[in-house]
Amino acid sequence: MEEREDRYLAQTYQKFPVNIARGKGALVWDVNGKEYIDCMGGYGVALVGHSNPKVVEAITKQAKRIITAHSSLYNEARAELAQKLAKLAPKGLTRTFFSNSGAEAVEAALKIARKHTGRSQIVAMSGAYHGKTLGALSATWNPKYRDPFQPLVPGFTFSQFGNTEKLRETVSKNTAAVIVEPIQGEGGIHMAREGFFPEMQKICQENGALLIFDEIQTGLGRTGRMWASEHYGVLPDIMCIAKGLGGGVPIAATIAREEVMASLKVGDHSTTFGGNPLACAAANATLDYIVEEKLPDRAAETGFFFKQKLGQIMGRRAIIREIRGLGLMIGVEMKFDIRNILMKGLERGVILLYSGRNILRFLPPLVITKEQISKASEILDGLIEEEEKLKVNSA
Ligand SMILES: *Cc1c(COP(=O)(O)O)cnc(C)c1O
Repeated sequence: MEEREDRYLAQTYQKFPVNIARGKGALVWDVNGKEYIDCMGGYGVALVGHSNPKVVEAITKQAKRIITAHSSLYNEARAELAQKLAKLAPKGLTRTFFSNSGAEAVEAALKIARKHTGRSQIVAMSGAYHGKTLGALSATWNPKYRDPFQPLVPGFTFSQFGNTEKLRETVSKNTAAVIVEPIQGEGGIHMAREGFFPEMQKICQENGALLIFDEIQTGLGRTGRMWASEHYGVLPDIMCIAKGLGGGVPIAATIAREEVMASLKVGDHSTTFGGNPLACAAANATLDYIVEEKLPDRAAETGFFFKQKLGQIMGRRAIIREIRGLGLMIGVEMKFDIRNILMKGLERGVILLYSGRNILRFLPPLVITKEQISKASEILDGLIEEEEKLKVNSA
């Protein structure tokens, strides 16, 4: 089984020696029946829990009805989802373009911004991650991802995340849009200082540039509010969402203000799978579940509990440098490489995620229980203790 993936797949992923067979809520089991607490959550995709029964039911029903209907035809599941998003999205964001992945949602946002403003310059942030297709990669900061694929799309410049003065110098009357993650996920759970985003919105308005919020990782309740933009009192012109939207089924959305989206005309953009009934049905069930179960509130509460637990560990273990994040989007920066901790975590039944070499990132399903958080924290505490002893002995 592992041999076949290693033999036949492109070797583009850092693999962990776990073969996942099934999941429920915040738990997954491997092919040998071993149970794990899933703090990775598929990089945040398993927002409403693995194989959420409501999502499973919706997919099953929809699959029996019809799986595909191109967006040039009307469909009830798609109509329902578009209407739901218009209601749930930040004020004024009422028009949606559906696609199938985060990077695609970003590509659409970039094209909308270019077409609407008639400008080609995009400003992105240091530390940013927006995906790996050529356009999204051009807005992604990490040289490790960029350098092998130069030249990228022209017109992208980077400004320092959190630095208003630099942003003011970088944004001009040639800027089509500023694209930003409200909390940088892939970059290591970095938050901007208070006031940065309102000032960013003002700078955009002064220059006639659009503001694109990439809420692909932060959206849909992850940070304790439905949208991370709510924490900062900022209204973007365009918002990208994906990851948790389909309860695990691939679907993404680029949502814009009416007059902004109006700039896209027939034929300007398309994707064959975008807005297919199966994915839309999954997303409808997911959104209903998020709202009915008040998952944003739950993420705020359990996230606070999780941070307390991690804080207690930090009090005991000097190896932890900092704990950051909001809701159930948490980063723990360590003073050392965390590979050992990740590998040993698997042995003890917890799936952890890294951001760079020394930052642990927690993106568990928002349905994770306090008991599961306590157990995961206990395991982590033990792993860190062992790691500290190793460091002391080898020093
Ligand atoms: C994951 C992610 C993306 C890219 O999404 P893909 O589905 O992997 O293409 C873009 N932006 C942010 C903030 C993300 O977290």
